[in-house]
Amino acid sequence: MTDACGILGDGSKAVKIHNLIKAPENTAESILRRESWDASKPATVYITPERMPDGSPCKAATVILRTRGCAWWWKSGCTFCGYFNDVRDDVTVEDLFQQWDEAKRKTNNFEGCSMVKVYTSGTFFEDSENPVEWQEHVLRETYSLGLHLVVEAQAHLCKPEKMAWLAERHPGATIAIGLEAYDDSVLRFHVNKGFTTKTWRKAVTNLRSNGLRVKTYLIFKPPFMSEGDALEHTSKWLVDVAPLSDEVSVNPMNIQNRTVVDRLFRNREYRPPWLWSLVEMIQRTHESTSGNNARIIVHPTAGGKIRGSHNCGLCDEQVVASIERYSVSKDISEFRGLDCDCKAIWKTEIESDINLPTPLGSGRNRRGLELDLMRAP
Ligand code: SF4
Ligand SMILES: [Zn+2]
Repeated sequence: MTDACGILGDGSKAVKIHNLIKAPENTAESILRRESWDASKPATVYITPERMPDGSPCKAATVILRTRGCAWWWKSGCTFCGYFNDVRDDVTVEDLFQQWDEAKRKTNNFEGCSMVKVYTSGTFFEDSENPVEWQEHVLRETYSLGLHLVVEAQAHLCKPEKMAWLAERHPGATIAIGLEAYDDSVLRFHVNKGFTTKTWRKAVTNLRSNGLRVKTYLIFKPPFMSEGDALEHTSKWLVDVAPLSDEVSVNPMNIQNRTVVDRLFRNREYRPPWLWSLVEMIQRTHESTSGNNARIIVHPTAGGKIRGSHNCGLCDEQVVASIERYSVSKDISEFRGLDCDCKAIWKTEIESDINLPTPLGSGRNRRGLELDLMRAP
């Protein structure tokens, strides 16, 4: 069908939004760049301070491998996920074994570490993403080295048989699931997650019945959501998912390259959350979440930077440090005395978002001259 003004198209076959959004990443140039990486070397290996499941401090190695990447991303993908920037679709089983050996070489066989996080930019135990013999090798080896293992997964892939298989090879491992939002509409229309909250609850049952630990990721401020709504919703989700999790990690949105969120951000239609919103969420939920055993972590990746959660630029460092300290100490007094002139601007933005029938846009720039900010759209 055609129409005079072209609104309904010219009659040619419709193009899927998936291709429109992702086409630039699939150009010959992008593929060439991705495939220029050495497939026998992991993307990153680093060691950070962490906490063991019993709360004791430890050192953890994080190994990010170059894999074929998340099957969901190749099919559709979450709106904020830039993991595809680290993947290659021609990685072989030999490459993966070599990457793993390289990670061990770099860390001297995980010397001094009690925990290892093995991230594959998708689901560790999805057989079409990672070969089964390699999964088995990593599970058994990390167990024999006495390391606590953390891997990531999508909820619908945590099937009872596979979880039993995994628990047999590495009992007590932690499975981190990116739930992002405890709301089916948000999962569908803001995140494009590919599974529902019901599926996540089933996954939790499957993990727990096999003695595996549940880590839940929530995202703070998915796209197409105002700052005020993000604060209200995420505070509620946090309280709701904490009893079903051993750990909850709230990840404030940071803009990853070439994602849907990146496009909105460049178009001035999205801004990452304020650090004040994170402080407010923690203060609102502290009492309800401290009653159960789940550990709550709020880690503002790229905190204080324009593409991460940020305030006015003057107070950012101090606020990020308090949030980081709270994740370890669980002490609400970390925020005592914290203040800045920009807090009043943040408060007004939240009040407008919540009280006005239509949002006033996606928030103003928080840095620069007052006069320029007032003129900005
Ligand atoms: S499921 Fe995870 S890895 Fe896959 S697209 Fe979504 S966030 Fe990225
Ligand atoms: Zn400030």
